[in-house]
Amino acid sequence: RLPVLVGGVLFQHHPCQVINFVLDNSARKELEQRKDDFISIASHELKTPLTAVKMQTQLVRKRFEKHAQREAATALSRVERSIKQLERLIAELLDVSKIQAGGLEYVRERVDLDELLREVTATIHHLHPSHTTQVRGSVQTSLIGDRDRLGQVFTNLLSNAIKYSPDVRTVEMDLSASDDAVTIRVHDHGLGIPRELRDKIFERFYRVTDSKQKAIPGLGMGLYIVAEIVNHHGGTITVDSAVGKGSTFTVTLPLMRDA
Ligand code: ADP
Repeated sequence: RLPVLVGGVLFQHHPCQVINFVLDNSARKELEQRKDDFISIASHELKTPLTAVKMQTQLVRKRFEKHAQREAATALSRVERSIKQLERLIAELLDVSKIQAGGLEYVRERVDLDELLREVTATIHHLHPSHTTQVRGSVQTSLIGDRDRLGQVFTNLLSNAIKYSPDVRTVEMDLSASDDAVTIRVHDHGLGIPRELRDKIFERFYRVTDSKQKAIPGLGMGLYIVAEIVNHHGGTITVDSAVGKGSTFTVTLPLMRDA
């Protein structure tokens, strides 16, 4: 046994244990750092819409005092948008904490995928009216799963595709099905992801730290939740990407036939 000095602590263990300790320790430090970054970004992300709500509410009050109804209505719709932004953030925070505490709750129902995806693209269009989602193909089948949670997967992938393509107005979604599985590809022509980070982006709180990516707000929770939901449905999610060219996220979901 080798006595080894690690970070000022004398270890009298087998060298493998020391190596494990060093690895564990650096992984722990990385997660700690990620949590610190997360808390500071989260505080900022929560504060921004709250400040907007506060200012717009003051404006509404003043408009009402002046009987300026149309301006008051405009200000109220901004309040509504900020509240929705806060709701989404808080829902994701709750999802992450539920996953950590043992998992999300799922319902089992028959889900018509083409209908669900039409609904998702309509929601995306409502949220990002300046962007177009081109849908190619169809799956023409249904599966057993949690409709809302599956919707969350594709809403998230399409929102990311738009969010990380600051100079492009179109994203694409390709749908196909075989006898036993459906494949949904979300394709963008945006910033892309460095090869070595393609697994990391599915980890909790992980965000790519390139200056261009960092400038885009986010908390690194979306893909962690997406991967958890896909996994629950027995599916897989992978990403193929080239920096500066774009990314393709591929979700494959098995079709569980009724017994
Ligand atoms: P968020 O977008 O809130 O940071 P996500 O978990 O959805 O969190 O994504 C994790 C990271 O993966 C993002 O911070 C971003 O760096 C990268 N990423 C996700 N989707 C894309 C995409 N379509 N193009 C480029 N980078 C992406």
